[in-house]
Amino acid sequence: MKRGIALAIVVVLGLASTAACGAESPAPREAPKSSTVYITKSGKKYHRDGCRSLAKSKIAISREEAKKQGYTPCSVCKPDGAVKP
Ligand SMILES: [Zn+2]
Repeated sequence: MKRGIALAIVVVLGLASTAACGAESPAPREAPKSSTVYITKSGKKYHRDGCRSLAKSKIAISREEAKKQGYTPCSVCKPDGAVKP
């Protein structure tokens, strides 16, 4: 009896996670290169490649993921701003 219920829960969870995964993918593809930003171990900002703030640590992450994790754009390198000429 208990085993049957556990099995049912596993099946339901499996279906739910598959459905959630499928629902998350319709994100429109934008230039993949420009969507990569860099974060540091301690900071709560994300940076453009080459920012001086990345001297201590530099972790590549997608902009979407950085925002999702609560990171905000650096005010020095302005990763969300227009590309400098
Ligand atoms: Zn920066």
